[in-house]
Amino acid sequence: MNIVVIGAGVGGLTAASLLLKAGHSVTVLEAHVYAGGCAGTFYHQGYRFDAGATLAGGFSPGGPHTRLAEILGLTWPVSPVDPAWVTHLPDRSITQWADAERWREERRRAFPHAEPFWRKQERLADIAWDVSSRYFPWPPESPDDLLSLIAALRPQTLLAAPYLFSTVANLAGAASRDPMFKTFLDAQLLIAAQTTSDFTHALYGSAALDLPRRGVNHVHGGIGALARTLVDWIRAHGGRVLFRQAVEKIETRYGRAVAVQTNKGLRLEADAVIANVTPWALARLLGEAAPPGLLREVRRRAPTWGAFTLYLGLDAAQLPGDVPDHHQVVVDPTRPLGEANSVFISLSAADDVHRAPAGQRVATLSTHTAVSPWLELKQRDPAAYEARKAAYTEKMLAAAERALPGLRRAVRLCLSGTPATFEFFTRRPQGMVGGFPQTSLFNVRGPATGLPNVWLVGDSIFPGQSTAGVTLGGMRVAAKVLQFTARSSRLRALQATRQPQPELG
Ligand SMILES: Cc1cc2nc3c(=O)[nH]c(=O)nc-3n(C[C@H](O)[C@H](O)[C@H](O)COP(=O)(O)OP(=O)(O)OC[C@H]3O[C@@H](n4cnc5c(N)ncnc54)[C@H](O)[C@@H]3O)c2cc1C
Repeated sequence: MNIVVIGAGVGGLTAASLLLKAGHSVTVLEAHVYAGGCAGTFYHQGYRFDAGATLAGGFSPGGPHTRLAEILGLTWPVSPVDPAWVTHLPDRSITQWADAERWREERRRAFPHAEPFWRKQERLADIAWDVSSRYFPWPPESPDDLLSLIAALRPQTLLAAPYLFSTVANLAGAASRDPMFKTFLDAQLLIAAQTTSDFTHALYGSAALDLPRRGVNHVHGGIGALARTLVDWIRAHGGRVLFRQAVEKIETRYGRAVAVQTNKGLRLEADAVIANVTPWALARLLGEAAPPGLLREVRRRAPTWGAFTLYLGLDAAQLPGDVPDHHQVVVDPTRPLGEANSVFISLSAADDVHRAPAGQRVATLSTHTAVSPWLELKQRDPAAYEARKAAYTEKMLAAAERALPGLRRAVRLCLSGTPATFEFFTRRPQGMVGGFPQTSLFNVRGPATGLPNVWLVGDSIFPGQSTAGVTLGGMRVAAKVLQFTARSSRLRALQATRQPQPELG
């Protein structure tokens, strides 16, 4: 069968490679000149900057990237990072050790009253990570999904039942009355679950808070090397990945997708289409053929977060020696997080010579930001838009100085990115990134779109954001497409046997 994948983000490439491995003919169409989207690495004046994502989890045994590599027989260019990062609160810094024993000591030192929370969090994280190491098609969208879910359950999974309707703040109980502890949880959850402890689902949040212990990794040459590895694998195994091909329309007939058209005049017929885009972008691609449910969804949903980013070229000699590469800074815990009040800072590995000219390193700084003020200002008042960019740049650099004293002195190049930049380079409407807030297990989005042969993949579908998350989503979508193609083949075989056979002789 002909399968077309729109977009070469990590989610789209994962689904594409698995379907190619299963014997289908697969073409990936990517609008940009390189793969990876929010987890891409771009080249500028001798520097290779990570556009969004900088740290990747999911490479431990049973982790999504590891499982994908085992299926495809490929090797990822990664090495583990310990400590994962350091969180800087105004009155203390907390080192997120990957090593479990060092982490236990660290958390007892930083938050001695919170041990009961951490023990519950670890138990729930074990359950969540165990479930995610098997095929677990959540939310179920078909009887096949239900059967797979039942098969994936283990007696220990049921221990999570009392927490099905709890938030992380419920789990923390009295400990969350300590504002510093709550800020510590909130800052991490905002990144990993797109919301804070009062709203993050307990199971999802527990798994997210465990990320450093499950192991995070540097990707050699920049995080875009994950997507590049998949592109190389797809091309080496007979699939196609075409760059500079922005899909503008999905053609439908009798309620099914039949072809896609790109801005370069390419028209590809398709038996199945996988869209590595957000629901808003899919509705645009379908135009009048968008199913009513999808249209209702995009009208109903509140905008998700955007990101403001800084990309720095740095004189390595001016940076403080022997500090971890990744930091999170909260400037003022009494104010809402994001909007440069919480900043994540990632330096390229000191020994990664592919990222910057000799003697230099690069850094990506990011903060959550509401998308609409940026987009409105850009339209209405370009000077005010530039002034806002300058003000955010100042605030981000000031925050980063707290983790890396001397950083400003080291800056040789500084670029910034707003939601408008993300909209342009990743084609995500309004520059909305990171997927939906993970508030309840019972209102998450699955891959179904309302058209029987079109599926969404990427961080809009459960389990949401991160390279590991979209890899799990990509595996799920590949399995759904395989069920669909098997059903279609059975149907065709049945129809063929029912056709009147020409008489011989
Ligand atoms: C600032 C920031 C920091 C982050 N930090 C981390 C981190 O440290 N670790 C982590 O694991 N995750 C992180 N994330 C999240 C992670 O990057 C994303 O969740 C993940 O990469 C999204 O993958 P995706 O499959 O949804 O595809 P996307 O990244 O959205 O890529 C989609 C691709 O499709 C292409 N495309 C879109 N429309 C079309 C079209 N019509 N035609 C052709 N091509 C099209 C785009 O050009 C793009 O290449 C971060 C995200 C951001 C924004």
